Amino acid sequence: MPKNVISPKWFTAKHNHEECIASALAVAEKICQKKSLRFTPTRRLVFNLLWKQHTPVGAYELLEMAKAEGYRAAPITIYRALDFLIENGLAHRLASTNSYIGCSCGGGKHHGVFLICRNCGRVLELNGTELIKKFKHSALEVGFKIKSSAIEIEGLCPICSK
Ligand SMILES: [Zn+2]
Ligand SMILES: [Zn+2]
Ligand SMILES: [Zn+2]
Repeated sequence: MPKNVISPKWFTAKHNHEECIASALAVAEKICQKKSLRFTPTRRLVFNLLWKQHTPVGAYELLEMAKAEGYRAAPITIYRALDFLIENGLAHRLASTNSYIGCSCGGGKHHGVFLICRNCGRVLELNGTELIKKFKHSALEVGFKIKSSAIEIEGLCPICSK
């Protein structure tokens, strides 16, 4: 399995979250540069809001947070920025909670496996591309075509299970 760009150490102990934000930002800037995409102020704002914590954020909550930061543009521009991040693998939608989270796998085309703590809500993403490939293969053997492919697993994180 490819390694996370953001070290998963944060999941097990107290950590300096500024370092997570800095690594995530470096990845986003690199991807935008490589694909000649513009990392506009709105995209950057949404990105930063998603990275405030390791817990997912709902669409409405995102708007409220943007407002609190003094952002006055229409909600649609926030949602478009969110779509942009998702399309480029820089953020993911969690279907089980209908919320969004910044990607810690280095962006680009990949499938996430999300470990969701039911107590504190923190989410650790693992790169599940290899795993999903196997699933797709098994599913195809019985004639089933997998279309959406994020795996969300609920449980207790190391800190909450102590
Ligand atoms: Zn962190
Ligand atoms: Zn990801
Ligand atoms: Zn927890």
